[in-house]
Amino acid sequence: MAFHRLLPLFLWLATVNGLVAADTLLLADKGLARLSVVISTSASESTKSVAAELADYLGRISGASFKVTTGDGSQGIVLGTLAEFPNPSLARPLEIRNTFDGREAFAIRTEKQRLLLIGSTDLGASHAAFRLLEHLGCRWFFPAREWEVLPRLPNLAISLNETDRPRILARRIWYGYGNFSDRGHPTGANASQDYRAWARHNCMASSFSVNAGHAWQTIIAANRKTFQEHPEYLALVKGERKGEQLCVSHPEVRRLAVKWALDFLQKHPERDMVSMECSDGGGQCECEPCVRMGNVSDRVFGLANEVATAVAAQYPGKMVGCLAYNEHSEPPRFPLEPNVHVQLTAGFTRGAYTFDQLAELWPQKCRNLGFYEYFSVWLWDFDKLPGGKGANIPRLRESIQRYARLGATSLDAESGNNWGVHGLGYYVANKLMWNPDADVEALRTDFFENAFGSAAPAMSRYYDRWAPEKQPLISRGLIGEMFRDLAEAESLAKDQPRVLARLDHLRHYLRYVHLRWLLDHEKDKAIQKELTEAILTLAYRTRYEYMNHWEAMRQSFSAEAAKKFNEPGWLLGSKDPKPWALDQPVTRAETWQWFSEGLEYFQPTPVTEVIFNYQDLAPASFPAAQSLPLTQAFQRSQRYALASLKGEPIELEITVGTIAWYRDRADATWTLKNAQGKVAAQGRQKLDGNPHKLTLPVPVAGAYFFTCDDSSAGWRIQVPAGRPAVWLPVRGSRILPLGQLAERFFYVPRGTRQVQLFYSGAPVKILGARRQVLAEVKTSDEIVSIPVPENEDGRVWSLSPASYSQLWFFNVPNLLAASPDAFLLPREFMGKDQSPALPADPAKPHP
Ligand SMILES: [Zn+2]
Repeated sequence: MAFHRLLPLFLWLATVNGLVAADTLLLADKGLARLSVVISTSASESTKSVAAELADYLGRISGASFKVTTGDGSQGIVLGTLAEFPNPSLARPLEIRNTFDGREAFAIRTEKQRLLLIGSTDLGASHAAFRLLEHLGCRWFFPAREWEVLPRLPNLAISLNETDRPRILARRIWYGYGNFSDRGHPTGANASQDYRAWARHNCMASSFSVNAGHAWQTIIAANRKTFQEHPEYLALVKGERKGEQLCVSHPEVRRLAVKWALDFLQKHPERDMVSMECSDGGGQCECEPCVRMGNVSDRVFGLANEVATAVAAQYPGKMVGCLAYNEHSEPPRFPLEPNVHVQLTAGFTRGAYTFDQLAELWPQKCRNLGFYEYFSVWLWDFDKLPGGKGANIPRLRESIQRYARLGATSLDAESGNNWGVHGLGYYVANKLMWNPDADVEALRTDFFENAFGSAAPAMSRYYDRWAPEKQPLISRGLIGEMFRDLAEAESLAKDQPRVLARLDHLRHYLRYVHLRWLLDHEKDKAIQKELTEAILTLAYRTRYEYMNHWEAMRQSFSAEAAKKFNEPGWLLGSKDPKPWALDQPVTRAETWQWFSEGLEYFQPTPVTEVIFNYQDLAPASFPAAQSLPLTQAFQRSQRYALASLKGEPIELEITVGTIAWYRDRADATWTLKNAQGKVAAQGRQKLDGNPHKLTLPVPVAGAYFFTCDDSSAGWRIQVPAGRPAVWLPVRGSRILPLGQLAERFFYVPRGTRQVQLFYSGAPVKILGARRQVLAEVKTSDEIVSIPVPENEDGRVWSLSPASYSQLWFFNVPNLLAASPDAFLLPREFMGKDQSPALPADPAKPHP
């Protein structure tokens, strides 16, 4: 992390704090306000409230008292819309194109007598006000008040001209399970107000409101009587008219859908879009006329097109919303009406195409496209380290840039109120949605410097340790390092109370990590119950810090616990007082007690990682009692190295679609590459669940790398006995084996004193060269060291069959073979370590 790199706006601040240039407007001088915030006499409630907030912030940073007055805008800090303060020179920058692009546009202009903060709409004016404050050094990193950063500027001078509008028009980071409404906010506000303030201050808003949620069931409910009288309007499923889908080929059903949509827009003139998304789940109509219309996409989007035409005629500029999801993930055969807005979901797509393919196909049929993302889903990440996609900043940047390139106008990101693990990611993602080319490194640096002051170096390290893109191994030792980073940060910032308050929030998050860790590694049910109650209590007491997704825990975690521990009183519906609802703020003494317990429990386990050259592998053979074929099944891709000894074809067998339920997904694709990454062979395979033999000619003898993308439908690899083959697990990535992992052999180079590994899984035995048990790993998510007995180095060891989700060796090659006589090793060992020999010639029958 380069701390000498400051944002350009700091250079600008340095200028205004120093000598005031000629074109600079003075807003406050030695703690006295020079200008008022001026709004129009016809200002909206929204602009009045933004003006009051702006005056308040200017006052807090300068120590002056700013008034809000009405006026004609000839002088002052003029806040409002272009209609309220007409200005021909701003007409072009604030132009609204295609109904929506520009609804959030704003201009900031510094003139001799006035500072203009003008939006094309109220929303644009609000953005102008908060962009100005951001330029002055204000930050709202996370929604809790403690994460607000305000500079102290008694002499407040401005020299700023800026025009801006967002690239993605509708931007939303929102919470699955919603927000909680428990009382007890330290200032009397509530969680939703804090969330909305964060959004307002950071310009997260929508130029149009997306409305693409499931809607057909609402059409049925709104016409209950008609549907009761005409059961034939409902989908025909297995011979019965039932469920919540429509018989979409029926002309009367289409008429009802059009009428319902027009009624909706009449009743809700503030809405930009009416949804025509089908009901959730399957159960689409199987009647003959519906089937003739084409696949589910053709039917759903055909109806959307018809409704959109009627909407365009009666309500020009209004849109019809749909998802591309589940059975209608792929585009229909026909192009969509320009006012149909489709949101493609980044998960739960089905059918013949992968998400990547769908992302390229959709823009060909639809010019009004958005994306639905999953930054964090409680049931996927449980607020644990290293978090969901929302914590992976390089991945966020890559996908947001891609969506923008594909012309996306909306991005809806399902997330959680869990800023302890995702906060920095959400903050950066929001900036990227506005401007996909935003300088992410500068934003990170700005975050560390502004949020943590002199503790920035320690906090940058704290965040870097578990950054998902660095393939972290979330071990007890790594968490121990994080505790120590925070301890160091505390001492670096001991005279900065606002920084200390933020560190306390992160300490409380680490307390969650600690308790959750104990729970995940506990077998005794009574202790599990105590830990669950402790977690709920912690999350409840710290809920207004927003480090953990309290609402998800309140709804989901507690309900699950009620069942597991037979505590019906814990259910939300029950009137019983909840044991965790302890309305006592956490004291500093408690925070310290917890933190010292964590420091004690999580001890660093430093290891030195040896980097092996996996690009240059050579076949090797070790003595084996019996030559075994390789066979293993996984869900999701894994990487194997295979060898051609004399230039003969590489032979293996794959089975894809081993999970029958997922066989309707996109074909599996497999690739064989040489060490330089050049493709030697590739192909597709239908997910049929049958074994397929691959005989792959290669140009020259050597090692080749095989991967298989199974569309998450499960796959099995089989390599005949005697053929060199090793599995290369990926650091920090979870293995999803189908069934146990078979015994796997690994090589311990000569001179190794101890084998160090990270292991996450059920107990596993480590066997030496003579299959004797050298150790048993009984802990999970730990870094383990196993001493190497005399004469056991330079030989092949093995892991007994076991279930594990992560495995990483630090100082022996991460190459796992099914049989000692069919190995591949980095070439560096071939001369130096004398023991490996060349495998037998595969052309000859194996002895
Ligand atoms: Zn039908």
